[in-house]
Amino acid sequence: MKILAVSDQVLDRIYQLSTSNHFQGVELIIGCGDMPYAYLEYLVTMLNVTMYYVPGNHDPKYDPQQKDACAEGGTNLDLKTARHKKFLIAGLGGCIRYRPDGINQYTQSEAYARAFRLLPSLLLNRIQYGRALDILISHSPPLGIHDDSDPAHNGLKALNWLNRIAKPRYHFHGHTHFYKRNLESPETTIGLTKIINVYPYKIIEVSH
Ligand SMILES: [Zn+2]
Repeated sequence: MKILAVSDQVLDRIYQLSTSNHFQGVELIIGCGDMPYAYLEYLVTMLNVTMYYVPGNHDPKYDPQQKDACAEGGTNLDLKTARHKKFLIAGLGGCIRYRPDGINQYTQSEAYARAFRLLPSLLLNRIQYGRALDILISHSPPLGIHDDSDPAHNGLKALNWLNRIAKPRYHFHGHTHFYKRNLESPETTIGLTKIINVYPYKIIEVSH
């Protein structure tokens, strides 16, 4: 399955790319946060495929009553799981808390508490399909992987833990930008999981 994953930055070029055949064959769009919802809506309209996204720290707080707090045509997968073309997918939005009043920001223990809420569905997946998860979508990176030492860009430990227990094949995240101090590769494999920094976008073929 061919995936278009986007994160953190609007590329003017993406508008041209989507009208040419650059995204031909894409079967799923993944949004890893900090993207204007109008941009996500544009992509989903152009490509006419399923889209799952999680909110980042620059996105509005999710409120089902408020139309501009979600991207129409897509599904906010924060704290949820889904099954798409036999792939088991889960989402965990937000990043580390670096401002007391910050939106979609969590302390390490708050992030753990949120990740625990995915456990029942992951367990059900294991019973039903023999595995807990294929694809994890988050805004933040895990701690120590593609993250940075400044207070806003520390990774979330809860994501290291989720990868350890759910063993997804792929983990897509955003939030850290590689033009900054962070010069390591945007792809790191830990155990069975390929962790991919999506910023600003990636086209990836995933297989079972
Ligand atoms: Zn962010």
